[in-house]
Amino acid sequence: DCWFRNLPKIELHAHLNGSIRNSTLLELARELGEKGTIIFSDFEYVIRKDDRSLREVFKLFDLIHIVTTDHKTITRITKEVVEDFAAENVVYLELRTTPKRNDSIGMSKRSYIEAVLEGLRSVSSSSLDINLSSNDPAKCVAGTKMIYVRLLLSIDRRESTAAAMETVKLALEMKDMGVIGIDLSGNPTVGEWATFVPALKFAREQGLSVTLHCGEVPNPVEIQAMLDFLPGRIGHACCFQDEEWRKLKSSMIPVEICLTSNIRTETISSVDVHHFAELYKENHPIVLCTDDSGVFSTSLSNEYAIASSTFGLGKPEMFQLARIAFDFIFAENQVKMELIKMFESAARTLE
Ligand code: 5GP
Repeated sequence: DCWFRNLPKIELHAHLNGSIRNSTLLELARELGEKGTIIFSDFEYVIRKDDRSLREVFKLFDLIHIVTTDHKTITRITKEVVEDFAAENVVYLELRTTPKRNDSIGMSKRSYIEAVLEGLRSVSSSSLDINLSSNDPAKCVAGTKMIYVRLLLSIDRRESTAAAMETVKLALEMKDMGVIGIDLSGNPTVGEWATFVPALKFAREQGLSVTLHCGEVPNPVEIQAMLDFLPGRIGHACCFQDEEWRKLKSSMIPVEICLTSNIRTETISSVDVHHFAELYKENHPIVLCTDDSGVFSTSLSNEYAIASSTFGLGKPEMFQLARIAFDFIFAENQVKMELIKMFESAARTLE
């Protein structure tokens, strides 16, 4: 629906390697297949498969990382992902990615993130004519389209305390370059919350914002400890029980809602029973997000369209839902002010 595409939108939960275009992924896999590094037909099957359990999704990510993790590819993917979000009127994007070290190709966590930043810069010379404004390294203008991009560095749950700390220190070193926060993600059945607490506490003390993947699997002890940490936002909140709902609602921690992702990974059985409905009804802060637009073949416009049709929300309600997300972004107040203005002017042009 055109209206949802034209609606200005704020994307706060998008994983870089999960947002890769299918066409790019297949192209890269084909190249590696020709070199004999992978067996292309195996790869193609997994990529083209539509429904994946949460477990299968993490297997897919290991596969994706084989074809994407070199500097040149990371730069390319970043550029394409930003262009794709900008093209559907995402006006503010917090893109998250896990800094990866790969000694065999001379990649450090730092050089990985530098490749991401290079991708942001290369958006300016793209065919879409998106130009970076000179005073803000992560602000792009595409004709009349404008997108702010900020980065969150992800800690993978497979990592050690030391590795998590390394990521936080890297984020601090790159604060002037658009890195504003830390995310905890990766396979929720792997790792212990306690492993990541020192790094996350340090991040927060040093002025970084923190968002956590929380409640993707039933784990009341971990969920409650995460909520007690009072992160800036949480993602998903699927497997909550009464006590966790109570804690969440009294904390007013904003929830990043990923409808298609939750359905595809079978974390939620069907969209009409999704907790979006209850949180929306109770005015709990929520924001619609894509999670992995490539892997789950969706877009933010599509997520808005699904919410609208599933929960019977009209255009004024959807506009308000999109607008209110300015309040949950991790970027500085000046950006919030700009977003408020953009929504004000959009309110005059959108019917
Ligand atoms: P990357 O960080 O490599 O740019 O993006 C892919 C990574 O994001 C995955 O390897 C995984 O760690 C994380 N990720 C993507 N989607 C999900 C999800 O639905 N749940 C969790 N917990 N992690 C995810």
